[in-house]
Amino acid sequence: MKYRSTRNNDNVVTPSQAILEGLASDGGLFVPIELPLHDFNWQIMKDWAYQEMAQYILEIFLSDFSKEDLQECVRLAYDDKFDTPVIAPLVKVDDHYHLELFHGATIAFKDMALSILPHLMKTAAQMNGNTNEIIILTATSGDTGKAAMSGFQDVPGTKIIVFYPQDGVSKIQEQQMITQKGENTYVVALKDNFDAAQSQVKALFNDSELRQELARHNRQFSSANSMNIGRLVPQIVYYFYAYSQLLNNGEIQAGDSFNISVPTGNFGNILAAYYAKRIGLPIDKLICASNDNKVLYDFFETGNYDKKRDFVITSSPSMDILISSNFERLLYEAVGNNDQVVNDLMESLNNEGQYSLSSDIMEFFEDFIGETANEVDVSEEIRIIHNRDDYVMDPHTAVASSAWRKAYTAEKVSNQVVIISTASPYKFPEAVLTALDYETEDLNSHELIDLLQKVSNIPLPNTIKELEEAAIRHNRVIETHEMRDLVIELATQ
Ligand SMILES: *Cc1c(COP(=O)(O)O)cnc(C)c1O
Repeated sequence: MKYRSTRNNDNVVTPSQAILEGLASDGGLFVPIELPLHDFNWQIMKDWAYQEMAQYILEIFLSDFSKEDLQECVRLAYDDKFDTPVIAPLVKVDDHYHLELFHGATIAFKDMALSILPHLMKTAAQMNGNTNEIIILTATSGDTGKAAMSGFQDVPGTKIIVFYPQDGVSKIQEQQMITQKGENTYVVALKDNFDAAQSQVKALFNDSELRQELARHNRQFSSANSMNIGRLVPQIVYYFYAYSQLLNNGEIQAGDSFNISVPTGNFGNILAAYYAKRIGLPIDKLICASNDNKVLYDFFETGNYDKKRDFVITSSPSMDILISSNFERLLYEAVGNNDQVVNDLMESLNNEGQYSLSSDIMEFFEDFIGETANEVDVSEEIRIIHNRDDYVMDPHTAVASSAWRKAYTAEKVSNQVVIISTASPYKFPEAVLTALDYETEDLNSHELIDLLQKVSNIPLPNTIKELEEAAIRHNRVIETHEMRDLVIELATQ
């Protein structure tokens, strides 16, 4: 399998090169040139462990890696960093399912890909004779940063620099980040929002002077953001794994289709599901669930992608995004793999803050259902499910759950659905407890977590236990325009 840039069809790379580069130097994202349909033998696959499923899917998408190398990457990634040997449990709640993707080291779904990305990147560097130090540059809306740093912590030949919006992450998320260990990790708060952080990171990637400066020091950038196919591909695995568990539970027969509801921010998670569908996983509808930052919902309704609106800070900060970067990959397919059209649309988004597609092109998106859940919907969803099913969800998951309920009520989709559960409630104790009608105002982090443990009966994850004693190791706060100088300073020291 080869990849090419959404903004230049002639920019063709191998999978390992795509992982090393992260983003294409022309500003585009790497996409598979072809996505051939596979015939899956579910009779056998339904009994596979997560690691076996990962090996199989990675071999398809990362075709220049040797089987042995992939096996080693999988072995190092999906081990007892996860608090369950199943890695991604499928849990029945009422008459449908939740795929819990938060059992890794930092209790958010980013761990699913970021526990393997450093190993893939190291292997890719070896395969390509690359001896440069790799500088991972990442903007985070809260979860990527922590998961990426724990993945890259003390990995030889790498350094990681993370930027997060100072007021745009939860207290626990911030604490998790600023206490990050590792001599090669740097975390910086920005006096701006996530979109600004992400745009500036992208600009730094495309800054050829900066690249040359790094090259002079034998260093090069790569990305741990979901724009890197090394993030995207490992996320395809769990959709297959969910299906195998549905089969094992006798919920469906091989070949039957199911629906998914994905709490969406940068469009990485749901795009992975789409790629799974493209190679033959029988997913019927993909519900793209947005919070109050409902750019995508409006897009699916009107064909107009419009980021000119107020940025809303919600209880699901990892979805507080107006520019969903990975959407460009789907857009590229929607316009018939026409790189010139993608360039034009992205220029329009950049300069005018919006672009529009014709109704012909919008037909391409018929398998996607845009839904949105506001803050009241989210609280209600958390409360209803807790009261009825004794199951406590985090606000991101609640957006997806509420979105599915709306689509189901409107008869757009059946109840054969898997809700993608992206974070442990322990990451957002205040929002969850408030939704459950507890007074949280006077409680400190420790008390919030204690109370949540009593209410939810969910065992306390290690990362939360460790926060108590962890020393603060990072305290930089800067303006967006200071990012470039700081990156040079940190990268070249
Ligand atoms: C990152 C994240 C999302 C959004 O995922 P995308 O791949 O960016 O769409 C949703 N929920 C949580 C908890 C996240 O960390």
